[in-house]
Amino acid sequence: MAPDIRKLFDFPLAPRLGRINAIYGPMFSGKTNKLLLEARHLSIAQKDYLVFKPVLDDRVEEACIDSHDGDSHEAIVVQSSHQIVDELLRYFHHSKELPDAVLLNEVQFFDEGVVEVVAELSMLGVEVYWAGLDTDWRGVPFHFQPALEGATAAKHIGDLLLLPRTVHDRQYAVCKLCGRKNATMTYRTGEGEGLVQVGGQDTYEARCSRHFYQGMIERGHFKREQDKLTSILGRLREELDL
Ligand code: ADP
Ligand code: MG
Repeated sequence: MAPDIRKLFDFPLAPRLGRINAIYGPMFSGKTNKLLLEARHLSIAQKDYLVFKPVLDDRVEEACIDSHDGDSHEAIVVQSSHQIVDELLRYFHHSKELPDAVLLNEVQFFDEGVVEVVAELSMLGVEVYWAGLDTDWRGVPFHFQPALEGATAAKHIGDLLLLPRTVHDRQYAVCKLCGRKNATMTYRTGEGEGLVQVGGQDTYEARCSRHFYQGMIERGHFKREQDKLTSILGRLREELDL
């Protein structure tokens, strides 16, 4: 039951804060499958919800989200977190209340304003489900797009994961190398070094942390022993006079 909106202007906290369901993990771990399952359960429960996805580039995006298993659900394609608010206002104008839930796919591709939007939705009593990559192809927390063009984004996925009322729903994929279902990393098999490189099985594979590091060391990405000041290997090398 959505709270009385007018009361929220005096004290902007719903009687029950909305739960934030964080569905995160590497590519192919079943994040979108899980998000679509949650959507199905919301409709069985006769809840009203909106599904969003960020536009990745200037191409015309299909207004739906697809899982690797071919499951699909219609979605509102937005350019920015600001547009999520526009759509919520449009919804409010029409139905005089906020939806019960908001679902976001590929949350890591939004701008950093999405952290504030999710926090506020929770405070207003709206349940949030977000699905996204926790780390990028280099194995570090996925940074959001900057709110202002040309600036550096100050926030990354960890800021979203640490919001109060968040329930962690970590997904694991099957490691492409050892076959165990312990893959937490997305390994880029292609050559590019850019942060965002849209691709599927031809460009990325799921790997456990051991096989992720192994691949990155082989491609010369980690040269820790060269960093004499901060790396353990670098200091040991000096100590051993190698
Ligand atoms: P995500 O949104 O996390 O990228 P999806 O929910 O779209 O993942 O798809 C998950 C499906 O991908 C699995 O059910 C499985 O059929 C398929 N898949 C392909 N490669 C893998 C893998 N390495 N580990 C697990 N599932 C995989
Ligand atoms: Mg997905």
